[in-house]
Amino acid sequence: RFISLEGGEGAGKSTQLRALAAALRARGVEVVETREPGGSEGAEAIRALLLTGGADRWNPRAEALLFAAARADHVEKTIRPALDRGAWVLSDRFLDSSRAYQGMGELTDADILALHRIGSEGFLPDRTLFLTLPEEESSARTRSRDGEASDRIGGRDRAFHLAVAAAFARFVREEPDRFLAIDASGAAEVVTGRLLIALQDLLP
Ligand code: C5P
Repeated sequence: RFISLEGGEGAGKSTQLRALAAALRARGVEVVETREPGGSEGAEAIRALLLTGGADRWNPRAEALLFAAARADHVEKTIRPALDRGAWVLSDRFLDSSRAYQGMGELTDADILALHRIGSEGFLPDRTLFLTLPEEESSARTRSRDGEASDRIGGRDRAFHLAVAAAFARFVREEPDRFLAIDASGAAEVVTGRLLIALQDLLP
């Protein structure tokens, strides 16, 4: 099974991914933990291009193409081989981050999906868990974690983060077969429990 975790910064995706992987391993499942952008040698090299050099290094179209190229390599080299041998793959972000971050400005959702069709044959997760947290709480968590400079693109304001959250909320509404919104507030163990319940029908 291929599961992606999505959510804004500070929602606890990486912590939950680790906890979920541990819980699945305890059930005897082989789990591959991965992330986007990155997750394969080539995609990690593209990640370095994307995350360094400042906000103005890439124009929005070049940026979306780089994300799509990284994802194509990630799917081909890491995700498909793991699934083929029966492992579960948990990815910290996947296509839907591009839809939410790159697909709501100069490019549309349809553009991002078209790039994904070309790059990765439209390959989709079996389930996408969207961690939700009120914007106030997530920005407080992010600030306490690594300060204002943590945002990849400086100057991203509250309106930007709200727009990203609104995009994810729309995916949940419009694609209920794949997406589930998970309340990410409260203790980490409680949130992990919610994630396991959301995957119950897929568990061996
Ligand atoms: O929260 P995480 O560490 O996964 O995100 C790293 C940075 O990359 C965040 O600032 C996020 O907003 C950004 N990002 C993006 N487009 C994507 C994936 C991540 O702008 N497709």
